[in-house]
Amino acid sequence: MISITVEHLSKAFGDTQALDDVSLEIEAGEIFFLLGPSGCGKTTLIRTLAGFYQPDAGRVLFDGEDVTKAPPHKRQTAMMFQSYALWPHFTVAKNIAFGLEELKLPKVEIEGRVQEMLEMVRLDGLGKRSINALSGGQQQRVALARALAVRPRCLFLDEPLSNLDAKLRLEMREEIRSLCREYGLTAIYVTHDQKEALSIADRMAILEGGRLAQVGTPPEVYRTPHSPSVAEFIGETNFIGGMVTRVDGRMAEVDTDLGHFEGVVADPEWEPQVSELVVIAIRPESLTLCDAPTDGVNAIDGHIERSVYLGEIAQYDLRVSDGSSIRLSELNPSIVRDPGKAWQHAQARKEDVIILKAPPGAVETRTP
Ligand code: ATP
Repeated sequence: MISITVEHLSKAFGDTQALDDVSLEIEAGEIFFLLGPSGCGKTTLIRTLAGFYQPDAGRVLFDGEDVTKAPPHKRQTAMMFQSYALWPHFTVAKNIAFGLEELKLPKVEIEGRVQEMLEMVRLDGLGKRSINALSGGQQQRVALARALAVRPRCLFLDEPLSNLDAKLRLEMREEIRSLCREYGLTAIYVTHDQKEALSIADRMAILEGGRLAQVGTPPEVYRTPHSPSVAEFIGETNFIGGMVTRVDGRMAEVDTDLGHFEGVVADPEWEPQVSELVVIAIRPESLTLCDAPTDGVNAIDGHIERSVYLGEIAQYDLRVSDGSSIRLSELNPSIVRDPGKAWQHAQARKEDVIILKAPPGAVETRTP
């Protein structure tokens, strides 16, 4: 297992700055996720780390050793792609053995490792099968076995599960996580699936326009996003515009069209000032419906315009006094409240109210 250091990495394709001064420290044995909207630079970063792209500027270090100019096969890493890239005319065993034959290992060792990998991915006994005679999940396991057979120092996974159905994805998530742990692999993982990232990652980086927007553990990024765009990208969020009335260390108070809010200043690099325009972010699950009117702080009142039963949660859209809509969700609902004109009261705890710097161009009046 190796640590990876990324120093001021930049890469452009023509006029597109795919990576813009990205610096990162990935610890040995860490499962590190790259997330962000389409085109933000995830694939460019993982391919640069794997050696398929040369950066325009910056360095990549494996365990402190500069590998920026080393070709992919000299990096002792393995990559698993979205399309399995298996050879359909080869057997399972032959597919797994391929990288080992390239390394010119003795035949007996290759056979031993293929057997070990087949057991590891629970395909023991299927070595002689043709790839075409396997299910999608089994093919995915062969791809994983092939990647791990060469005993890489680091595993790069680019959307490895996107061709699988929901149930198989869940299974494979667990499998990838436990295999990375068992083999002590450093893994860099690109996905569009937030649940996949939240459930497997030790830490994650959110990229925006080729730059790092935030790096942290899943709870850090989900619970304390540093910007509206990160809050919006991971999970669902209600945003309410307002103005700061008081600052007390990492807590602040904000007046909005919907009332008075008290919450946490999430971005450690930012110190809000009294009278500064800000955005409040509250997750739907942080708002609790109350039967009686609340004490007014962190409270949102409105009538239910839409209610949806989703099994584990009931989801409500409240139409609030300024005409905008606020979403809230109730876990383990025994009843689902119907839409109607009756006034409902919801409230959030102050540790669940996140105060964020308003994006450039924010105006004082809140727009629904
Ligand atoms: P997605 O989630 O859609 O896969 P991504 O975050 O992986 O996107 P990249 O594939 O890294 O994004 O692309 C970053 C930017 O660089 C995009 O604007 C993309 O169009 C551009 N880009 C990537 N590869 C090339 C290339 N070979 N030639 C020209 N432009 C490219």
